[in-house]
Amino acid sequence: MDDDTTDAMPWHTPVIEALRAGDHNRVADLDANGTPGFDGDKALGERLLEERGGVLSDLQEMLYACGRTGDNRAVLLILQGMDTAGKGGMVRHVVGHVDPQGVDHAAFGVPSPEEKRHHFLWRIAKALPRGGQLGVFDRSHYEDVLVARVRNLVPESVWSKRYDEINQFEHEIVGTGTVLVKVAMFVSLDEQKKRLRERLERRDKHWKYNPNDVSERPLWPAYQDAYQDMLDKTSTDYAPWYVVPCDRKWYSRIAVTELLIEALEGLDLDWPAPTFDIEVEKRRLAES
Ligand code: ATP
Repeated sequence: MDDDTTDAMPWHTPVIEALRAGDHNRVADLDANGTPGFDGDKALGERLLEERGGVLSDLQEMLYACGRTGDNRAVLLILQGMDTAGKGGMVRHVVGHVDPQGVDHAAFGVPSPEEKRHHFLWRIAKALPRGGQLGVFDRSHYEDVLVARVRNLVPESVWSKRYDEINQFEHEIVGTGTVLVKVAMFVSLDEQKKRLRERLERRDKHWKYNPNDVSERPLWPAYQDAYQDMLDKTSTDYAPWYVVPCDRKWYSRIAVTELLIEALEGLDLDWPAPTFDIEVEKRRLAES
């Protein structure tokens, strides 16, 4: 065995099976500390993250190269999750493996006055990745069936229609050649409390603390219902949800790395053919 590579893959179940939303991972019963499909420990997980991050990087470079030569396919990672679940860390530690010029990152906060005047999918459509890009959404259109529902920002007659609208929208996106990797991230309430306390205790983490996050905690039962409905109504064959337990950050990061690798491998990419004559160019270079 090469010293730099991990021997047998420690996934006993392929990640897309272990994490795909279904009856086996209902939100109310979810073990956020679990490591579905994975047999290894943290040390192995961290080693694997580096190793598989390299594979992800190579695949993304190929996607980027294809995009540069007119291929309009793209991959869009949608990160939707509870506060403190680790969306930022996912971007740094997973997406951070790839060349930033190939990444289209968008974060969605409270809609601006202009965004509020438009349909809820307007700002989302504007942020979709171009061909060859790895898009990353930190929060997404799913806020409009989560916080909008739990906080009664719009009446039920409005949010309840959004599931179908989202499905239709995503169907169109997939039809244009973008693969959606939808990741729902969950931490336990205990782990969330620990992470929020750390944000209060550490000077370098104060900037991450948002008093609203504490106000959301008592609403967790309502959020659970909203998340479950989101998974039930919008996990489709063309854009399935993956339910990722996030109490162990190392696990959630290798899981999402694998989901992205799977998505990129599914595109069956190849290096673009040269648009010049290699032999002629070699000769010209030698003579130069
Ligand atoms: P995060 O918690 O993701 O690190 P943050 O605390 O820095 O983010 P912002 O990114 O500015 O805050 O905004 C996130 C907030 O915006 C969340 O409370 C989220 O629920 C809210 N939000 C996002 N989309 C919508 C929406 N469509 N309607 C209402 N609120 C939304």
